Amino acid sequence: MARVWRVSCALIAAVLINPWTAAAADDYDTAVARAISLLPHRPEKVVLVVRANGTPLLREHLKRTEGFVTRGERVVYLVKEGETLQRALKGPGPFDCMLAVIIWHEMAHLDGADEREAMRKEERLWQQFVLQHRVSVDQGLRYLAVLRNRH
Ligand SMILES: [Zn+2]
Repeated sequence: MARVWRVSCALIAAVLINPWTAAAADDYDTAVARAISLLPHRPEKVVLVVRANGTPLLREHLKRTEGFVTRGERVVYLVKEGETLQRALKGPGPFDCMLAVIIWHEMAHLDGADEREAMRKEERLWQQFVLQHRVSVDQGLRYLAVLRNRH
């Protein structure tokens, strides 16, 4: 699953970034904060974007994207409508870990990793979550197989 889509910062800023209601913002902030707390180190900045605000072309590009980075910015963008983030909103659980590895994958790109290396880092962190029993072994190994099938 390609999660990175490199576009100009101006395009993202102009089309996607949009405030949402205060109550919803709290929920998103809480879910993202839980995921970030699981990471070996914190991202410099995470920004939520709204896929539905994009042009049809942009929406199509972001259809299956949950996170991405852009050139020249040390920012991890998370798509607000992304399935993992939406599931993490429901409360603490395995989706926090899944969201964490998505963020970790994008952080790897910010540090210069190509897609293959970013996937490897994502998989290594997921393995740590399994070993730490943050997710069940069954669930952990199933998701690890999904991650590995991307190669
Ligand atoms: Zn990637």
